[in-house]
Parts: sequence; structure tokens; C-alpha cells
Amino acid sequence: MKTIRDLDIENKKVIIRCDFNVPIENGIIVDDTRIKGALETIKYCIKNNAKIILMSHLGRIKEEKDLKKNNLAPVAKRLSELLEQDILFCDKTRGEELEETIKSMEPRDILLIQNTRYEDLDGKKESGNDPELGKYWASLGDVFINDAFGTIHRAHASNVGIASRIESAIGFLIEKELKALNTLNSPERPFIVILGGAKVADKIGVIKNLVTKADQILIGGGMAFTFLKAKGYNVGKSLVDNDNIDFCKEILQKYPDKIILPVDFAVTNEFTNDEEYREKTIDNISDDEMGLDIGSQTTAMYKSIVLKAATIIWNGPMGVYEFEKYKKNTDELLEFICNHNIKTILGGGDTVASATKLGYKDKVYHASTGGGATLEYLEGKELPGLSAIK
Ligand code: AMP
Repeated sequence: MKTIRDLDIENKKVIIRCDFNVPIENGIIVDDTRIKGALETIKYCIKNNAKIILMSHLGRIKEEKDLKKNNLAPVAKRLSELLEQDILFCDKTRGEELEETIKSMEPRDILLIQNTRYEDLDGKKESGNDPELGKYWASLGDVFINDAFGTIHRAHASNVGIASRIESAIGFLIEKELKALNTLNSPERPFIVILGGAKVADKIGVIKNLVTKADQILIGGGMAFTFLKAKGYNVGKSLVDNDNIDFCKEILQKYPDKIILPVDFAVTNEFTNDEEYREKTIDNISDDEMGLDIGSQTTAMYKSIVLKAATIIWNGPMGVYEFEKYKKNTDELLEFICNHNIKTILGGGDTVASATKLGYKDKVYHASTGGGATLEYLEGKELPGLSAIK
């Protein structure tokens, strides 16, 4: 895979597709991790005297009212503070003002273009990879760097549209993501996968791909109940993905020693944080109960398994992590892993958010910046954002 180091960027107009999709509340950036993640590539371009044109999406744009809250202006301000340099900001995604600004740029100048998804208001031009838009954006630069890992599983005008038209490479952030995820192709063993979250359907591809590589897969979250129902247990009112019971049966039959299921759960009668915390073993769940977290026996069992692991990948929480009471076992297991120096990759989304909140993000080998992208990579799928560069 061609990286930024392989390109001659001296005095060139370098378009960098960043992932500045940061949480913004009332115009204030609540978490700037993603902006900081882009700095290495940007600084490299400054050092190499490039004229730097940054692009990113922010949120989703479906109607006029989405424009204001997804304006990238606060990102330009934060970036300017982090780089201690003025950042040019163009409020438009195309047009004369943008073209004139680019023409006037000197080496080391940095321009941030408005949210690429502003183009979605008019017929989903960005998300639909409109060829005319991709061609136009490509015409603004000499070379293209894709450094937005979170969108490489999508073919958008701001990644595939540009990459397929001008000389392209990946930036340092994507390089780091791929390097970390590629270690899973020949992992140090035992290699343990931890999978949680809501639906089996979302993780089928990952299970199919990783079950052949992993030594064990520890299942938690809502997903566990579909597997347990497939084994004949009564799971009460717990979340069950009925369409995938057969898939679970098949996997359990084929890999009986690899798929490890919870033995107990924190249960409630309703989907709420308000009931008293109580646990039940899997053979004791009644018809009017549902499991909202793995239980303490399961957590202890999972700890003893991960203690022997040399490599771990974890995607998805063990319980309803949004409820204070039912994030307990996810946090406890995460804390345990982080304190035991095991080479761990957190596969994006909720798991990384938990680690960040607990202050453990920097203790893991890698915390992926892409949720969907990470999952699709782990499924072994071809990712359009990368193929366009190859
Ligand atoms: P995912 O995006 O697939 O990783 O799923 C994350 C979601 O799974 C979170 O919103 C959790 O609330 C949900 N989840 C985890 N455990 C359970 C459970 N036992 N019952 C219902 N939802 C769950």
C-alpha cells in the first residue's frame, strides 16, 4: 500500500481526507481525539512544504437544519490552536471563493474546506460518490492522501472519487490502523476475541472470519442470548436475533470449544436502569426477565481466560453500557485487561469510548478509530477507500 512517504509533496497541493467527525455541543468540541489523530500527517506535509487542503465529513446532512450543527468551523479553530498556526477556512465545498483561496496558498498554508456532506443536501453527491463532484475535488489538488480510516469502507466522492483520479496514498493514521489490525493475521497465541454488542447479524462476518484464526471467542452483550437460545436455554425477554439462531447453532456445532458463552447475567424485568441490581445463572432466567449485562461469575471466567492471552481483539460491550448499573462488567473486564499488559486491540465504537472514559485508552496496544470500518476489515472484506489507492 502506497503511503505518504512514497509521494513527492514538496510545493504540491496536497488534499488530505481527514476524519474530523468529532462530537460538537453548542459549537464546542467535546472530544478532539480525532483532530489530534490527524496531526502527524498534517505536520509531515508542513515539514515538506506542501500546500495543505483538508477535507472531512461531520455528522449527517439530510435537511437544511443539519447544516448549522455540522459546520466544520469549530474544527478549524481547534486545529489552529493545536498547530499554533492560522488555518484558512472556506465555508463552501465548491466555487470561485474556494478556488481563489487555493490559488493564493503558499507552501505550508493550511486550508480546511467545509463539511463534505454539505454536498449531500443536493442528491447525496458526496455519499453517493457523484463522479462530477469527485472530478471537481480532484482538480483542486496535485496529490491525495486518505487518512480517514472511519470511512474507508464506504465509496464516497471525498475518498474514492478523488483517489481514483489523482496520485494517491494513505496517511500515517490509516497506516497505523492497518498495521495494528494486520497483526491479527499472525497473532501471538493464545489469541482471544471478545465480542459483544446488540445483534448477531452485525457480527456474523467477523465471527466467520475470526473463528478460524482465534483460539477462543468470548461472547457477551445482547448477542449472547441468541447463542444461548440456540443451545436450548430459556432467555426470557432478553434480546434475541431470531433470524440468526440457525447461524449460531451451526457455529456452535462446528466450533464447540471455541465459542465461550456467559454462565450468568445481571437481570431486570424491564429495560431500565431503575431496578435493584441482581444476577441469575443462565438456567434460572424466568419468562419475565431479561439480561442486561454478563454476571460476576462470567466476568471472573472471562478474566481467567484473558489472563493467558497473548493477543486480544475486543469489539462491543458486554452489557447495556448506556445504563450505569449494566456497564459494570464491561468496565471491570476492560480494566483487568488494561492492567495486565496484554496486547489488546479495541475495535472501535463503544469499547473505545469505555476505555477513554476509564482513562485506559493509552494502555492498550491499539484503539481503533473506525467502528464499521474496523469490523469490515476484520471480516476480510475489500474496502473501497483502500482499493481506490491500490
Ligand atoms: P454494537 O453497536 O453492536 O456494538 O452494540 C452496542 C449496543 O449493544 C449498545 O447500545 C448496548 O446497549 C447494546 N447491548 C449490549 N448488551 C445488551 C443486552 N444484554 N441487551 C440489549 N442490548 C445490549
